[in-house]
Amino acid sequence: MPSLKELKENYRGFSDSKIENIARKESKGLMKEVLPILKEEIIRRKLDQNLISRIDTEANPFEGVERKQLIQTIKSQRCPKCNSELELFGFETNTIKSFLFFTCIEKREYILCMSCGVSKKLTAIVTTLLLGWWSPKGSLSTPFILITDIINFMYLNKISKRIINDFIDETNGTIRRYGSNDDVIKRLIQWKNKSSK
Ligand SMILES: [Zn+2]
Repeated sequence: MPSLKELKENYRGFSDSKIENIARKESKGLMKEVLPILKEEIIRRKLDQNLISRIDTEANPFEGVERKQLIQTIKSQRCPKCNSELELFGFETNTIKSFLFFTCIEKREYILCMSCGVSKKLTAIVTTLLLGWWSPKGSLSTPFILITDIINFMYLNKISKRIINDFIDETNGTIRRYGSNDDVIKRLIQWKNKSSK
């Protein structure tokens, strides 16, 4: 592992755009010791000072009681699909569509009420059953994906916990910056349901 001095020198050598990029997209994954070096470079080069608060918010994860409360806020939002007030869960779907030598394997995650989530999962399974087999790769992967998706039904709660916790980590900085009020959480859930993995 490089020493702090070496890290400092490395950061000195990075271009402005690389520093900005790290601050915007990668600060969450950096070691705590590196954060002051990154901030120092931003100040020294007179880059956008908002990047500093961005780094601070990304590097301040939700833990303990705060995380529990946030999970509760997420789960108590209205379902983004049917607008019901039922509890929300995280769901994973796997779909294969294939034709000749074209194979598209898609893994997606959604935050929905139980009934909308189960219907999403069933739609994915039926799609794979109908469209999965029609390429060499598809015909090999389809049974595997179908079995995985069916077994996943037994672990709905466990998978939901993972998806909601990952969702909090992914959106950590945004929630820190904009707050965990219903409006922000609702928008983030909509974003999550639209973005593919
Ligand atoms: Zn629903």
